[in-house]
Amino acid sequence: MSKMIRYFLLTYITIALFGCSHFCGNNNDVLFQTSTFNALLEGVYDGETSFHDLKHHGNFGIGTFEGLDGEMIELNGNFYQVKSDGKVYSVNDSMKTPFAVVTSFEPDKTLSLDKPMNYSQLTQYLDNLLPTKSIFYAIKIEGKGKYVKTRSVPKQNKPYPRLVEVVKNQPTFEFNDVEGTIVGFWCPKYVEGINVPGYHFHFITKDKKSGGHLLDCQLENAKIEIDYTSRFYMILPEGGEFHKANLSGDKQGEMNKVEK
Ligand code: ZN
Repeated sequence: MSKMIRYFLLTYITIALFGCSHFCGNNNDVLFQTSTFNALLEGVYDGETSFHDLKHHGNFGIGTFEGLDGEMIELNGNFYQVKSDGKVYSVNDSMKTPFAVVTSFEPDKTLSLDKPMNYSQLTQYLDNLLPTKSIFYAIKIEGKGKYVKTRSVPKQNKPYPRLVEVVKNQPTFEFNDVEGTIVGFWCPKYVEGINVPGYHFHFITKDKKSGGHLLDCQLENAKIEIDYTSRFYMILPEGGEFHKANLSGDKQGEMNKVEK
């Protein structure tokens, strides 16, 4: 075997064994999304992507369930379903989601928060940590809260009402002196209609018994991890209500109502 062939063979084996991260950057920094947020606003709650499939696209994320049956949290590769009773239920591979956002979480920045902060102070603090407003970020905040407020959404039956109607009766949950993890994303303004611009967080308690979509908090101390994400991959439903829905037009007003 010539030296040249041996060299190429060795390079090939090295890439095959260790991946190509050295040659083509970090492939795991992909934000994976199924369907669009506007579709959810329009009441498209049919499950499209199975949790079996979703798992292959990330170990960290948020979303909801078929029929809008609660808030989804994925943490360390485990999915959790917070139903409208505020309790956490286990998620089977065969269950489906109409909307979810996940990534392989690999923090680029880690720091500890050592002074108390309420929700708006926290988002201002995070704003100053983001190096640019042009890419996506996955954000994990693990720690202690003096107070945390969440909501979940009740399972809907067909014909599905619009999301803005559903959240009029959303159950909310309050936690005092609680430990847990905030899981979520910051998306740039230009994703309007596709995802939620700005912060979108879900929360799960340390004992994995409760949580929901984060509405408010008063953090005591926490570890903040941020994953800079420059790749965005979206899959859309191949038919059904999604194809019939009116996904155009400005839905910013409705978006603010359902996220707050
Ligand atoms: Zn949410």
